[in-house]
Amino acid sequence: MTNAEIKAMATKYVINTYGERKLAFVKGEGPYVWDADGVKYLDFLGGLAVNGLGHCHPDVVAAIREQAGTLIHVSNLYYIEPQVQLAKLLIDNCDMHQCFFCNSGAEANEAAIKLARKHAKDQARTDAYEIITMENSFHGRTMATVTATAQTRYHAGFEPMLEGFKYVPYDDLGATEAAISGKTCAILVEPIQSEGGVNVPSDGYLQGLRELCDNYNLLLVFDEVQTAMGRLGTLFGYQSYGVTPDIIAMAKFLGGGVAIGAMLTTKHIAESFSPGTHAATFGGNPLASAAAHATLKTVIGEKLGDNAVNMGAYLTGQLMRLKGKYPIQEVRGRGLLLGLVMSVDATALAAKCIENGLITICTNNNVLRFLPPININKALVDEAVSIVEKSLAETI
Ligand SMILES: *Cc1c(COP(=O)(O)O)cnc(C)c1O
Repeated sequence: MTNAEIKAMATKYVINTYGERKLAFVKGEGPYVWDADGVKYLDFLGGLAVNGLGHCHPDVVAAIREQAGTLIHVSNLYYIEPQVQLAKLLIDNCDMHQCFFCNSGAEANEAAIKLARKHAKDQARTDAYEIITMENSFHGRTMATVTATAQTRYHAGFEPMLEGFKYVPYDDLGATEAAISGKTCAILVEPIQSEGGVNVPSDGYLQGLRELCDNYNLLLVFDEVQTAMGRLGTLFGYQSYGVTPDIIAMAKFLGGGVAIGAMLTTKHIAESFSPGTHAATFGGNPLASAAAHATLKTVIGEKLGDNAVNMGAYLTGQLMRLKGKYPIQEVRGRGLLLGLVMSVDATALAAKCIENGLITICTNNNVLRFLPPININKALVDEAVSIVEKSLAETI
């Protein structure tokens, strides 16, 4: 089928929640994807922060093939070997003690929200159910996680939102402390807000949240759905900032393209998720766990976090060289979660980049966001930057 034929069928048969699109990708290899008309693109968005090893990484493909021919799914009524191997590898590489597996970022956050409430109840703080979240955050689209997402445009038409969430500006410790009451049980924050415009924390902000949580007996929950898996340089984003949360939600890159999410926490807090309190039918099933284990093993084994730091610095430097010539404010972010901040609208620029063969996205009107595979090299960065430069010349 061609792009146009796929589009026509999608328009007819698939609910239009994603709006009109032009392309359908049908093949991927490493950092490249091909559309249905055979055109090749350099993918610096990576399936929205999912394809962190690029497309069809051979180790991930091999693990999926082998597991698919052995056992695809069993329920969590039984122990699952690939799941425990994945759990051990995650826990061996962070400060958490146990994992709960699910299928997406929203579900990982949903688990975190439920666990934070349950933990407060278990401490006899029966009125403490409120969670403080940040303006411009993004935590998912289920009722609880979209309520946690403090952006009214995601709420419109779905009211009433869930009870028990309070919003404060990101990076504002004073407003956060003022919002804390006897009803508060947790603070939920992305170490870097990605969807919200690649907003990075000021020095001391995450540490300050940790201190507030310690002082007021609250849980600190990090939504690391985009920041984990080496993207910021360390396996988990919190390790880059030296601030340890109580609960971590992760997904996206974890499965190397296969749907899986995880919530990690300490042994003590995990006890609140006692038998029967929470579940997910597909959570950590053999196929998804095998894919995630192969992905994680590659990220750790090849020290790809270091590469993310090096390539992030190189990409930042190359983009900043364009600053004199074009209305560029800055490059924000950390590792390979980067935003080219323009002083003008960047919607047309993002569209032009795709036309010129580079997949990226415009966030928050004026931010061109890059979430490339973290195993890229300088030549690929050069290729991307030359397309950005050409697209700037054609649109600005
Ligand atoms: C994408 C994202 C989510 C939601 O993940 P889904 O898998 O789409 O449910 C949650 N939090 C953050 C920070 C995200 O980037």
